Amino acid sequence: MTTTSPWLQNLTWEDIEKQIEVSKGTIIIPVGSTEQHGPHLPVGTDTMVANTLADDAARRANILVAPPLWFGWSPHHMVLPGTITIRPEILIEITSDIIGSLQKHGFKNFILVNGHRIVNVTWMQIVGERAKRELGVQVVIFDPAYMSKSIIKEMVWGPVGLAEAIEGSHMWYRYPDLVKMDRAVDNPHPARNLYSVDPAYPDDTLCYVPSSAAEMTQQVEAAGGTSGEPSKASAEGGQRYHEHLVERLVEVIAMLQAA
Ligand SMILES: [Zn+2]
Repeated sequence: MTTTSPWLQNLTWEDIEKQIEVSKGTIIIPVGSTEQHGPHLPVGTDTMVANTLADDAARRANILVAPPLWFGWSPHHMVLPGTITIRPEILIEITSDIIGSLQKHGFKNFILVNGHRIVNVTWMQIVGERAKRELGVQVVIFDPAYMSKSIIKEMVWGPVGLAEAIEGSHMWYRYPDLVKMDRAVDNPHPARNLYSVDPAYPDDTLCYVPSSAAEMTQQVEAAGGTSGEPSKASAEGGQRYHEHLVERLVEVIAMLQAA
């Protein structure tokens, strides 16, 4: 375990040069969003979730974390203030430039930790493929919803939505001062025919159905932008979920270093 900060921006170039060697060129890039997260969670939730997973795993594995990308693709959330949406083609370019810069200095294993779920995954896949083909580096996408399938049923939080019990619990555990659970309003998922954004959903589903501004407006009227049941959140559950994900992330780091 490293005693210094794992965050690139806190280090000198000499420290970074040493860490490239020690970590076998392995680095995490947290990617999230700045978007509305209901009346009870901060707009930085998705990035904060990625940051805290990256921070804990990087300390345990003694690797570095790049400055996070605080923005994602969030056009459907523009109905509420505070949301900043960046076009996916811009996100692809900026993330490719981040990887390209780091690769020049000797980094070769990149873990994109995604806090913004299915909407970010689409463009991140393009980034990963391009970096591998053009730079010869390894890129993997670590998504909490995919990496918690083995424990999520026991948590009884309901499916992935927005600002639901999953995000609520994780934020409550890691950022208690920023969470206002007394303002949370439940908005249980309607059974949507043949579609779920939750990778743990067991039945046949369509791959993707975009959300419209009109659907988001309905979500805003029902629960201030929440989709799901934040009343099921708990800090204890958040701790178990967090620990599970950090362990998995440490495993992924070891897998890339051994390749
Ligand atoms: Zn979120």
